[in-house]
Amino acid sequence: MQALAERLGDAVGGHVLESYEPLGFTALKTVTPAPDVLVGRTLEHVGRRGKYVVMEWGDGIRVLLHLSQAGRVDVEETPKKTRPKGSVVRWRFTGGPAVLVREHGTERKAAWWVLGAGDDGPLVKLGPEPEADEFAHFVLKGDDTRRIHTWLRDQHTVAGVGRGYSDDALWRARLSPYATLAQLDAGERQRLLDAVRAVLADGLKKERERTGGLSEGKLGTNFEVHGRFGTPCSRCGEDLQRVSYESHEVAYCPKCQTNGKLLADRRMSRLLK
Ligand SMILES: [Zn+2]
Repeated sequence: MQALAERLGDAVGGHVLESYEPLGFTALKTVTPAPDVLVGRTLEHVGRRGKYVVMEWGDGIRVLLHLSQAGRVDVEETPKKTRPKGSVVRWRFTGGPAVLVREHGTERKAAWWVLGAGDDGPLVKLGPEPEADEFAHFVLKGDDTRRIHTWLRDQHTVAGVGRGYSDDALWRARLSPYATLAQLDAGERQRLLDAVRAVLADGLKKERERTGGLSEGKLGTNFEVHGRFGTPCSRCGEDLQRVSYESHEVAYCPKCQTNGKLLADRRMSRLLK
């Protein structure tokens, strides 16, 4: 999302919104202020908070954009009038390109919010960014009893990590996805904190280098273990394993992370009963 925000800022930052076309009718999550308030305003800044792209339009007015699993953003140098499948919204800028938000998925929906001054909308529920001291304190001193993989994905605990980076951070720190903070000593906690920050920094670097569309859906190739079940661990050569957990799949290396132990798959064991 950080790389996407940067590219969007480069493409349309400083431009004036000429018009907008709502193309997906459930995608706009706010009623007031109406999106009309944006017309004629300059897009002053594009940033990121958690998994939200945050666009600032002056006078405290902000637009949030959340792409969910399969959303993408196309910058149309010559604005189009087409309405591709999965279109969410198109913003047209005076004398500049248009921005089309669309999605390929059917399950997780891309969405946008128009927020008036002082309204944090869904941002109010977000935990600290991984770079924040508050997050460091949580990892180094906290006693959260949930499994690490669970709270790493919990946007109320820490913003913007997600499944893929959770898998990779645990692998990098050589910790089991099923471990809890209370089980870790000071060295392991520091390793975990460093690993979370490092995988995000590496991910951002790769995203900045990537050319092509502004999609967030092509992250798969950037991960060390996430989505790479059955391929050898790049550190030790052991085959990576997967375990089904809380309705999704966690990838890990048994040799590096669980002392060779295979994690129990609750869904599978239920089926076998
Ligand atoms: Zn390994």
